[in-house]
Amino acid sequence: MGTCRAFVLFCRDQGLFTARLVALDGSKFRATASAKRVMGRREIGEEAVRLDRRIAEYLVDLDESDAREPDEAPNATVTALQVLKSRRAELDHLAAKLDAEERTTLVEGELDARPMGIGKGPKPPSYNVRTAVDADTGLIVHHEVTSEPNDTRQLYPMAKATKDTLGVSNLTVVADAGYSSGATAAACEADGITACVPTNRSIHSQGDGTLFGRSVFVYQPEADTYICPAGHVLARKQEVLRRDHLILYAARNCTGCSLKPRCTNAERRYVSRHLHEDALERMNARFQADPSLIRQRRCASEHPFGTIKRMTAGGRFLTRGLKKVSGEAALSVLAYNLIRAISLIGATTLRAKLA
Ligand code: SF4
Repeated sequence: MGTCRAFVLFCRDQGLFTARLVALDGSKFRATASAKRVMGRREIGEEAVRLDRRIAEYLVDLDESDAREPDEAPNATVTALQVLKSRRAELDHLAAKLDAEERTTLVEGELDARPMGIGKGPKPPSYNVRTAVDADTGLIVHHEVTSEPNDTRQLYPMAKATKDTLGVSNLTVVADAGYSSGATAAACEADGITACVPTNRSIHSQGDGTLFGRSVFVYQPEADTYICPAGHVLARKQEVLRRDHLILYAARNCTGCSLKPRCTNAERRYVSRHLHEDALERMNARFQADPSLIRQRRCASEHPFGTIKRMTAGGRFLTRGLKKVSGEAALSVLAYNLIRAISLIGATTLRAKLA
């Protein structure tokens, strides 16, 4: 990992980064574990019940043979019992790990990996590799390997690490909606990072998206209220402290409103607003204002991932555990950056500069 970082710093010192725009993205790489090794509480519980039953049967067998031949316990039975008890202890250990880490699943034999996938598709044990790519040169400035599948809240940490590596006071970054987060948008603004990220807003869950979207509700900053399409005031009702801090607004009374069939199926309509909504909207507006950002982000991010996945049998790690996997990823990033640097300045020049 040190060599990978040293080469990035070498590239910076040689002026190979333009640092005009950096694209952030993440991609899933397969861990060295089968999907059959993914265990949840249900799988652990079912196997534990099966094992307890078999252990009980073996103990009955032992008691019976002990009664027949008190001096000779059958070796095969004793060995089988030890194997079953050992596996039973492993299951207890896995269950305790699930509880301690408040997880719903784990991958047996590769505990740092997690099942990852899109939507309802297959979720093989994987790691998430995040990169920050200099858009003009295609060089990877910063990368991370994590077992966290979600990129929300990673905008600021990734952008900050990239800015520090580049040694610049201002940085513009672009990312997809998976990086959209009000808190990290505000943190970027406070640290000289201009983030261009589309807002990741879910469609209003009631009515399969056929009901009024939140954009038809007009925010009144002075009063901290919303005005609904019927002209009623939605006042601040409660704060929701989830991954991102939300504030909920609601009309006092929606009963009898002629627009209610188009607004909500519930008793009254709620509208949510991020605590850092203003920063979120500015970040989204910057992204929407420049249509070329979509293409620049895609080109910058997809080329490194495509190249590295070709070099690693379709994006598969060979080692196990986050520490070793991180080292493996760093080698891939180093190899990719070497190839890019040769494309940019030529092998002869690069060798001479490295000497
Ligand atoms: S249902 Fe409630 S929030 Fe929706 S338009 Fe009518 S009064 Fe306004």
